[in-house]
Amino acid sequence: GHLPVDKKVDSTCPYCGVGCLLTFNVRGDRILYVEGRDGETNHSRLCVKGRFGFDYVHHPHRLTKPLIRREGAPKTPELLDPARMHEVFREASWEEALDRAAGGLKRIRDQYGPKALAGFGSAKGSNEEAYLFQKLVRTGFGSNNVDHCTRLCHASSVVALLECIGSGAVSNPVADVMQAEVIFLIGSNPTVNHPVAATWIKNAARQGAKLIVADPVRTEICRFATHALQFRPDTDVALLNGIMHVIVEEELYDQAFIAKRTEGFDNLRHHLKHYAPERVAPVCGIPADTIREVARLYATSKASMILWGMGISQHVHGTDNARCLISMALMTGQIGRPGTGLHPLRGQNNVQGASDVGLIPMVFPDYQPVGDPKVREFFERLWDAKLDPEPGLTVVEVIHAIEKGQIRGMYIEGENPAMSDPNVAHARAALAKLEHLVVQDIFLTETAGFADVVLPASAFPEKTGTFTNTDRRVQLGRPAIDPPGEARQDLWIIQEIARRMGLDWNYSGPREVFEEMRRAMPNIAGITWERLEKEDSVIYPCGKEGDPGQAVIFTESFPTTTGKGLFVPAEFTRAAELPDDDYPFVFITGRQLEHWHTGAMTRHASVLDAIEPYPVVQMNPLDLAGLGVAPGDLVTLESRRGRVSAYARADLGMQRGTAFMAFCYNEAAANLLTNEVLDPDAKIPEFKFCAIRVRPG
Ligand code: SF4
Repeated sequence: GHLPVDKKVDSTCPYCGVGCLLTFNVRGDRILYVEGRDGETNHSRLCVKGRFGFDYVHHPHRLTKPLIRREGAPKTPELLDPARMHEVFREASWEEALDRAAGGLKRIRDQYGPKALAGFGSAKGSNEEAYLFQKLVRTGFGSNNVDHCTRLCHASSVVALLECIGSGAVSNPVADVMQAEVIFLIGSNPTVNHPVAATWIKNAARQGAKLIVADPVRTEICRFATHALQFRPDTDVALLNGIMHVIVEEELYDQAFIAKRTEGFDNLRHHLKHYAPERVAPVCGIPADTIREVARLYATSKASMILWGMGISQHVHGTDNARCLISMALMTGQIGRPGTGLHPLRGQNNVQGASDVGLIPMVFPDYQPVGDPKVREFFERLWDAKLDPEPGLTVVEVIHAIEKGQIRGMYIEGENPAMSDPNVAHARAALAKLEHLVVQDIFLTETAGFADVVLPASAFPEKTGTFTNTDRRVQLGRPAIDPPGEARQDLWIIQEIARRMGLDWNYSGPREVFEEMRRAMPNIAGITWERLEKEDSVIYPCGKEGDPGQAVIFTESFPTTTGKGLFVPAEFTRAAELPDDDYPFVFITGRQLEHWHTGAMTRHASVLDAIEPYPVVQMNPLDLAGLGVAPGDLVTLESRRGRVSAYARADLGMQRGTAFMAFCYNEAAANLLTNEVLDPDAKIPEFKFCAIRVRPG
């Protein structure tokens, strides 16, 4: 039996985009255990992170006082040892820290202009926090230089979706796989990254759905697959064009759907001529017959659904990869009905919401372009401010702008670019160059190592707020405990900074912010706070009060100017840095089941860190043998940009010549190796492919 508790608080999981509902069981000021709740997305299921990953909130290293950098203390992520923290920072009162934080930003704005500042908001915070953060940057800093980790995650998927079908959100919820005859899963390892979503997919496969898994890594979910296509890394466009070539050649497309609901098919058809399966087979390493079989299955089933992850998005041709998936769905009419459609699985628990509310440099809330005069006029009236018509800089562009001396001050809330950015040594050097950096977080993150002022913030179970999951469900998070020491609510901190920068803000709490969001965002206009309190989870689009919300969208038309979907052909191109004699291995980064992103939370969660305490690199056992390395031995991985050491793990799922590492380990930061080259359309870096060499020791 469980220990007796004082109270049970219903909330959401702080980790992935699946958005499982859960209950915190609290005694005194501590969460004792967590239980799954019967939410639409999880039916009481939780993965190891949701169930056991909560005690980071009680970790002794939580920030409990505002910190100010000591004069002349070196800026480096290596000084983060909390025991040595006092050499770098001194504790300060909130008053002093806020004055210092906002004063520095204001000075830079007044001296160098609004574009000398930038802000990174958080996909780990609530919608209300993200909304206020972007509003602060746009109306207080005075530019659109606001972005967040979506840039490193699904930016390319969203660019392709907006271009082709006019909306960046998923068309169908994950649980729709139960109504699919064919599930096409590509570039995603849901067992690790979306574990409860994986249970839906596995259950659907057990019930007879055909599961096609396409991934350069043979992942666990392949055990449930009818077809496992372990294609060569980087050859997505060749493979997908090969599948579409068959659909065209064998006339398996949906002529009626194409005629009524799309445009540009002839252009695509012409383009696909060069991608016969027999031609692409040697490129992707998948037999032509398999490509043909998969094409027939996908095109002719009553309901086929596509789900994808970062394996698609994090390439220099990430937008092209996503364009191909959208074309597949459009040409076969596999969209707009239950069990069909397009589902890019969202990473962070609120990356969908943070994007929806406008933590994006080129759009205001609800994806309304900053360059559109009508849209701008609406927001200028709503916010009573003059707004910049020019799109702002993206995450990696901000780093380049710091190097060039264009950006001199930053406010970073709940993000950790000193671990998550590609070629991170370069990003760290840029952060060190900032004249003024304000970091707001719950731990002294690697990024906080470069801060001038550190503001101690609140963790998930310490606040009220809404979070939007991968299915477009707006869900209510409730507070179970108080923030430790003098740590404060993020909403309060953002407002205090705003006030000191001259904004007359006085929001009473998340509910009042949410009411303003409803006015700014047609998609959620009908969702009332009362309903969220009662039902916990409401799906959008929900335009009017009382509207149940729409789980399946695009049933009649697409939200493009013509109402039609657009085919955008993609040409097969290669990664920016290919293996050669000096750097013969392909390096792929991602996550592990037990650790979340840069590890700020999970490496402070005792159970999770005990399961995966050390950095590991997964490689094919034959490659390890070739290097004279036994599993468990230390190896050194080196790219043209940096070097790390990790323990070798033999993994038969890895292709020969590839190596995989999670990016959560401070002591072996995978992003020291990655390449900061960007997809030209979405500005997403190529985290899934660069060249390295590996040696024992
Ligand atoms: Fe949390 Fe995602 Fe696991 Fe659900 S699947 S418990 S949302 S980490």
